[in-house]
Amino acid sequence: MGTRLGVVVEASSTAGAGEAAENVMLEVERFERMLSTWDPESEMHAVNTAAVGSPFWPGSELALLLAEADRYSRISGGAFDARVGALVDAWDMRGSGVVPTPDMLTRALNAAGSGSISVDEHTGTVVRHDAAAWMDTGGFGKGAALRSAAQGLELAHVDRALIDLGGQLWAQGSADEPWRVSVAHPTKRRQPVVHLEIHGVSVATSGTSERFIEIDGVRRGHILDPRTGQPSRAWGSVTVVSADPVEADAVATALYVMGPQVGLAWAERQDGLHALFLQVEDGELTASWTPGMEQWLTDPPESLAPEHQSPGHRTHTHESRNHQ
Ligand code: ADP
Ligand code: MG
Repeated sequence: MGTRLGVVVEASSTAGAGEAAENVMLEVERFERMLSTWDPESEMHAVNTAAVGSPFWPGSELALLLAEADRYSRISGGAFDARVGALVDAWDMRGSGVVPTPDMLTRALNAAGSGSISVDEHTGTVVRHDAAAWMDTGGFGKGAALRSAAQGLELAHVDRALIDLGGQLWAQGSADEPWRVSVAHPTKRRQPVVHLEIHGVSVATSGTSERFIEIDGVRRGHILDPRTGQPSRAWGSVTVVSADPVEADAVATALYVMGPQVGLAWAERQDGLHALFLQVEDGELTASWTPGMEQWLTDPPESLAPEHQSPGHRTHTHESRNHQ
């Protein structure tokens, strides 16, 4: 997955903790082997290179996951869509970056559209309808690996655990002993601006600051808007908390594409997921969040990023976010 894995496990015995941590690593490696779009040996690679027009049967675990990803693209109105592969190619996102010609972009948009690859959740089959179409697992793969690794920890009865897979977290524990974690400033990544106390949930953040391509001096993020074919505008970051790591991962990507206004309204309509938007405009940081997010925030909303807040100007509070 091109990223780091950090595991902390607390258990009643050293051997038990070590074994549980080792199993997390093995499970993440197993998902990487299954989902990698870089490795020509992966099962995902077989899906992505299957003959155009013929049904392909991935193993049931992968088939279920692809159907799940498909569901997130439907509910997000296409803001999240793993079928972005052709657009990743058009912008050379995995190389040094290139601005596609209008012609290339039109073709890529077709090859990345909702009809370019069909996933049938009943039969578990995948059909590619365009030779340039492929599914990018980058928007939900970390969540999938985390979810499975977390299930392993539950079964191992460890007391507390924290997994950090490239910035997406899974926190296992109880309300009396939550994990304290921080959300970084969207552009000054070393600066924590929000603290959360979490247990039994995953936290995923999507933003443009860490990975980007630069074309003619303009930075373009690695998250694409599948509806327009354009890289998403750099506006800040969004952090999603959910008991389901796949949901946290996919929804964070979706909300980033939607942007802070549309994204907040959308997130408020979803059950069981909480979102925090950190927006940077002219160097000013503003935060907004769904009401449910407050159960995880350690500081009262008013004190969020106080150094950026002028007295009496409460754009940060939940109550006034509609007036922004
Ligand atoms: P990260 O993996 O860097 O934490 P995300 O979870 O937001 O960030 O996923 C971004 C990755 O998802 C991109 O690198 C790309 O592989 C893929 N991707 C880009 N745009 C979309 C999109 N609109 N929907 C689904 N996947 C996307
Ligand atoms: Mg994601």
